[in-house]
Amino acid sequence: MKRYLAAAMLLLALSGCGSSGSSTQLYTTTEDFFAMDTYMSVDVSSEKSESAAEDMAVKIEQRVNQLDAALSRTQQAGDLYKLNHANGQPTEVSNDTYTALEKALEYAEMTNGAFDPTMAPLTDLWGIGTDNARVPAQSEIDEALTHVGYQNVKLLGNNQVQLLNGAQVDLGGIGKGYAGDIVHEMAESDTSDQWHVLARLSGNIEMYGGKTADSGTDNWNIGIADPDDNTDSIAVVSLRDGSVVTSGDYERFFEKDGKRYHHIFDPATGYPADSGLRGVTVIDPCSTKADALTTALFVMGLDKGMKFCEENEIAAVFITSDKQVYTTSETGDCTFEFLGEKKGYTYAE
Ligand code: ADP
Ligand code: MG
Repeated sequence: MKRYLAAAMLLLALSGCGSSGSSTQLYTTTEDFFAMDTYMSVDVSSEKSESAAEDMAVKIEQRVNQLDAALSRTQQAGDLYKLNHANGQPTEVSNDTYTALEKALEYAEMTNGAFDPTMAPLTDLWGIGTDNARVPAQSEIDEALTHVGYQNVKLLGNNQVQLLNGAQVDLGGIGKGYAGDIVHEMAESDTSDQWHVLARLSGNIEMYGGKTADSGTDNWNIGIADPDDNTDSIAVVSLRDGSVVTSGDYERFFEKDGKRYHHIFDPATGYPADSGLRGVTVIDPCSTKADALTTALFVMGLDKGMKFCEENEIAAVFITSDKQVYTTSETGDCTFEFLGEKKGYTYAE
């Protein structure tokens, strides 16, 4: 493991899959699609044939669309929709929905509720990312908060779930992470080929099998976006396998009276988290965990977030509102290069 890291925001994959520099020929295909309310792109390379790569890419797209239905709050045919509209009755859901809920509750407990999968009433109230975005009245926020609390989600076994206290589940903070782990599993479990996969699920990047077939040239380089201009990177994380997940205040937001209201809510206040951060990136073999934790760390802010990472050995990059970039001492199996100096960022090593 190499030790460095620092910087942080949305991620652009700087380089795709390819055979250059590799002595083993790779056959590469790219599948672009829209799922989970965002644009996704998956590069798949096979060591056997173009058609094998294409088949795998299509399978991945289909599986992610299936997950979208299972984890979406708005797809009426989906399980989460069914659960949220069951008026508090025990409801049977699919394995995907149940497992994602189990994970969401695990990370809610781990983060002491900074990540909370029952933020749906607040997400609806603020409407961020929709045409109805607005600053609600305090009385509305207070009312919505009475239904929030991950303890209201009861997993009863045998895929049965019950929501107490008028709770509504929103898995927006973990769904793409869950999808990332499924993509990884698909590539790992299909031993008919040697796969190399780079999946860009919006701000969640999932990697499997290295960029090339040859060690030494097989790391992917993942850019961490500048929060003020996410077409540019202020750092690059380099690793072979696993996930790099970013949450930031520049993804979905609106501005009113010069103030930015974004889509990551502090469950303690019902307002967009005002923690002095612009973005958090987590690098971890498990992307479900990385996704839940980026959201939670954003809510915690730098000091609490750093402490949490040290205690739990999490590799993370924080970007603050005053353009400081911090990295944890744990870096996972990646190297980090800071590029933000010319854009006014400082790497606080
Ligand atoms: P993105 O969806 O841009 O990748 P996140 O992973 O941080 O960003 O998820 C933000 C989404 O998670 C919000 O749109 C909302 O649906 C939900 N959410 C907001 N605040 C929280 C929170 N404190 N805990 C869990 N989920 C949240
Ligand atoms: Mg998240």
